[in-house]
Amino acid sequence: TSARARVCVIGSNKGIGFAIVRGLCKSFNGDVYLTARNEGLGKKAVEDLKKEGLNPLFHQLDISDSTSIQNLKAFLQKQYGGLDVLVNNAAIYQDETPAPFAEKVEVTLKVNFWDTLAVCEALHPLLRPHSRVVNVSSLLSAMAFGRCSDAIKAKISNPNITMDQLKELMREFEAAAKSDTVEEKGWPKWAYHVSKIGVRVMSYIQGKAFAHDSSRPDIIVNSCCPGYVDTDMSNHKGTKTIDEGAVTPLYLALLPPNVESPKGEFVSEKVVEHW
Ligand code: NDP
Repeated sequence: TSARARVCVIGSNKGIGFAIVRGLCKSFNGDVYLTARNEGLGKKAVEDLKKEGLNPLFHQLDISDSTSIQNLKAFLQKQYGGLDVLVNNAAIYQDETPAPFAEKVEVTLKVNFWDTLAVCEALHPLLRPHSRVVNVSSLLSAMAFGRCSDAIKAKISNPNITMDQLKELMREFEAAAKSDTVEEKGWPKWAYHVSKIGVRVMSYIQGKAFAHDSSRPDIIVNSCCPGYVDTDMSNHKGTKTIDEGAVTPLYLALLPPNVESPKGEFVSEKVVEHW
């Protein structure tokens, strides 16, 4: 319970998040917390890693539950007095379910964008100098960007976009889905892909803000694509193993102190990608 112990937090209990925990247990010099919304599944995942000789710790986190987020925050504050690595990996993919499109947009943006943002807003104040934050996005964000109208593209790729403007953009997409005018308004008809645009732009804005915050030097936020990975989310069609999918997130979580790049970028296969 040393206030100076280095600590990192990652969702989740399965898939790419599980492999990120595995990699951090091997390479991060500090306590590694595996988090999951379901305590039983989370503890089972911790036990599985212990069988490999690794030593992750567990804390419950349901990113859709503000009390759960606040509990984690209070725990980290009390036990460690801060946080050094945060990997926002939790997400859902529902585009192939038969639910109405507006419903898919609401549910998907809630978890992937709004709830991820809520975790950031709660935990970023705990980040210590040299912290690394990784938000898992997807290359499907680029596919969605390619299908947006020029007006929306200009807003998404505006280098001076603010968080309020990004929130407004996500709300506009949600409203268009509700009124069944998504395509008319210049959006592609994909909930997940657009949610990952949100994660990518969110990370850009956060990364830029930290780069200009001299009170807490060398805090770096990036987003990434893990590649197409064999997990429940991809219906096990992905071609990469979970450990291969974890390579780029781990690279970003473990960026050495005072690196020049990547900062506030979107990274795929360890390479910075632009819109
Ligand atoms: P999985 O579906 O295998 O795992 C997703 C994890 O997120 C699960 O552990 C799930 O928990 C957790 N989760 C979902 N909602 C919440 C919540 N509200 N609170 C806490 N945890 C939650 O997905 P992947 O491992 O494939 O995906 C990991 C990340 O990689 C995601 O961000 C995904 O979008 C991204 N990605 C994946 C690709 C792929 O090919 N697989 C490609 C590009 C990006 P539970 O077990 O309780 O459901």
